[in-house]
Amino acid sequence: MAGKKEETCSFCGRPKSDTTILVSGLEGQICNFCIEQAKIILEEESTTQFEVPDLEKSVLKPIEIKAFLDRYVIGQDDAKKVLAVAVYNHYKRIAQKTDENEVEIEKSNIVLVGETGTGKTLLAWTIARMLHVPFAIADATVLTEAGYVGEDVESILTRLLQAADYNVAAAEKGIIFIDELDKIARKSDNPSITRDVSGEGVQQALLKLLEGSEVNVPPQGGRKHPEQKMIAVNTKNILFIAGGAFQGIERHIAARLRTNVVGYSFAGINQEDFDKEHLLQYISPADLKKFGLIPEIVGRLPVLSYLDPLSKDTLKRILVEPKNALTKQFEKLFEMDNINLHFEEKALEYIVEKSIEFKLGARGLRSIMEAILIDAMFELPSSKKTKELQITLDYASSKLSKASLAKLKAAV
Ligand code: ADP
Repeated sequence: MAGKKEETCSFCGRPKSDTTILVSGLEGQICNFCIEQAKIILEEESTTQFEVPDLEKSVLKPIEIKAFLDRYVIGQDDAKKVLAVAVYNHYKRIAQKTDENEVEIEKSNIVLVGETGTGKTLLAWTIARMLHVPFAIADATVLTEAGYVGEDVESILTRLLQAADYNVAAAEKGIIFIDELDKIARKSDNPSITRDVSGEGVQQALLKLLEGSEVNVPPQGGRKHPEQKMIAVNTKNILFIAGGAFQGIERHIAARLRTNVVGYSFAGINQEDFDKEHLLQYISPADLKKFGLIPEIVGRLPVLSYLDPLSKDTLKRILVEPKNALTKQFEKLFEMDNINLHFEEKALEYIVEKSIEFKLGARGLRSIMEAILIDAMFELPSSKKTKELQITLDYASSKLSKASLAKLKAAV
C-alpha cells in the first residue's frame, strides 16, 4: 500500500520535512522560508522610494537651491532665483499646519517662458532631483478636452503616479512639468464661438488640476482600459511648472510697456530705459493673457520667469561646466577603455558654431559630439595601441561632413 504523499510548500515545492513550519491554507501550503521571503517583498514595497521633504531638516534654503541648480544649469540666473524662492515657499506651504485661523499660503505654480532648448525642462527636472520627489513631464499639445481624440488631462497624473511607482502619497508631493503651455493658448483674443477642443477647453480642464482637487486617475492611462480601477490623487500639494516658448509674446510686452510709458509717465521710466533686445525680462501675467491664456490659468500660475536665449558663450559653457557636462561624459566613456580623451578649445568652439549655424541649440550639441566621436568609439576599444585621443579642430571638422550635419538637423 502506497504511503500518503508528503505535503509540500505550494510556493517553493519544499517537502514538509525540510521546513520548520508549513502553514496550510484553503488551497495550499506555505513554508517558513517563503513566509520570510514574502515579508522581505512586503517591506521593500512599503518603504517609499521617495522621501517627503521635511522642511525643518532637508529642504535647502533658496540660496542653496540656486547653488544646486548652478551645478546642472548654466546661466538663467533670474529663472533660477525665482524658482528657488517658489520651491522653498511651496514646501513651507506643505509644512504649514492646517489651522482654520491660519493665513493660508497659496500654491506657487510656476511658468517659465523662453525659447525651446534653453533649459526649462532641465530646471524643473533638477529641482525634482534635488528634492527626491517624483517628476513627470507632460506635453500640453497632446491634451484635449475629455471625450475628444487625444489624451485626457488626467493622463498627466497617470505619468506622475508611474514615476512614483504608484506610491500615491509621494505622487501627491511631486512635480509636474507641463511643456508647450503656449500651444493651448486661445487662438484669438475673443472667446471663441466655435468649440476649441485643444485650446481653451484644455485650459479649463488643466485648471482643475492646478487648483488642487481630488482627481480620479486611470492607473494605466488612456481610455483603452475602461475596466481599470481609478486611483484618487489629490493635486493640492503637487507643484506644477509650466514652460513654453510663447513665440511673439514680445509684441504684447512692447505694446504694454509703450502704453504704460506714454500714457502715465510710468514711474519716471522712459522708453529708452528698456532693453529692447531682451524684452522677455519684462514679461508680466497680463502678457500671458494677451497671448491667449485664460485669466483663471494665469491666476493659478502666479510665479512667472523667463529664460535667456543661449549665447555662444553659454553653449560653450554647457559643453564643459555642468556636473554631467557632455565633454565629461565622453571623457568618462573613453576612460573606461583606458583612453585619455581631450578636447581642444578650437574644437569646442567649432561644435558650438555648428550648433548655432544649423539652429540645433543645446540639444544639438550632443548629436554633434556623437557624430564626431562615432568612429573613435567604434574603433578604439579594439585598438591595443591608442591610449590618447586629442579632438582638434581638424579632427572635428573632418568627421562632421555636411551630410551628417543635415541628418542631425532633420533629427533634432
Ligand atoms: P526646454 O525645456 O527649454 O526646451 P531643455 O531643458 O529640454 O529645454 O534643454 C535641452 C537640453 O539642452 C538639456 O537637456 C541640456 O542638455 C541642454 N541645456 C539647455 N539649456 C541649458 C542650460 N542653461 N544649461 C545646461 N544645459 C542646458
